[in-house]
Amino acid sequence: MCKQYLTDFHMHTEYSPDSDSSMLNMCNAAVKSGMIEIAITDHVEMTGFYSDGFDKAIALSFEQAGEMQKLFEGRLKIARGIELGEPLHNLEETELLLDSYEFDFVLGALHNLKNEQDFYYYDYSDVDVPEMINKYFTELLEMVEWGRFHSLAHFTYPFRYIPKNLYPADYRIWRDKIDDVLLALAEKDIALEINTSGLRKDIGKTIPDLPIVHRFRELGGERITVGSDAHTQKHVGRNIEDGLLVAKQAGFEYVTVFHKGNPEMIKII
Ligand SMILES: [Zn+2]
Ligand SMILES: [Zn+2]
Repeated sequence: MCKQYLTDFHMHTEYSPDSDSSMLNMCNAAVKSGMIEIAITDHVEMTGFYSDGFDKAIALSFEQAGEMQKLFEGRLKIARGIELGEPLHNLEETELLLDSYEFDFVLGALHNLKNEQDFYYYDYSDVDVPEMINKYFTELLEMVEWGRFHSLAHFTYPFRYIPKNLYPADYRIWRDKIDDVLLALAEKDIALEINTSGLRKDIGKTIPDLPIVHRFRELGGERITVGSDAHTQKHVGRNIEDGLLVAKQAGFEYVTVFHKGNPEMIKII
């Protein structure tokens, strides 16, 4: 029997402000959890976290990921990536960053609306939630239309934090906005990430969940990446098989990995 080819294309190390795990430990954990291929995707927030620009942390992450590639040769394939947050909030710096490094893989992410805090930090009892979600989808569409990244990270991210009683139980009221984002992804050949972190949080589902992944397929989406969004070694590779199952149930036969920005399709069994 063939074994599933496991890929975890989303994880953070001590070069992200919200992780203190060494890259070596993360790579060892990946081998231990049966991953064949991973991407290191430390945060680069164009408006957030860093006060001294992106250079320092990302330069170190990129360099060390190169060392890890050599160290783990024959045992684990390692892509040098980033999780690029809010690229349009500082487009000039973003373009400069992407021109400065030959990343294997760029995850596009939106953690906060323009001039707002991360969705993680709100007191949601004080927020007009439907209005906020409308803005989220609108900004995200602009980001996808710009399109200089390989996979869209954790689509529907705000739902990871908004209390369930503050919005309708399904996405029906935002269906058109969701379709617009998914169509733009499909047209640009950008992958949709199935982020498995939701399975270890209250929301209890992948982000996005099966109906949205399925809709992406219906609208012509071809590329899926799967990632744990691990910030500690114990979460590396976590629920990757569940993520692949969601992809399969949605009608995808392949998961995609990236080398120097070029996609490779890997059969899901
Ligand atoms: Zn993220
Ligand atoms: Zn992340």
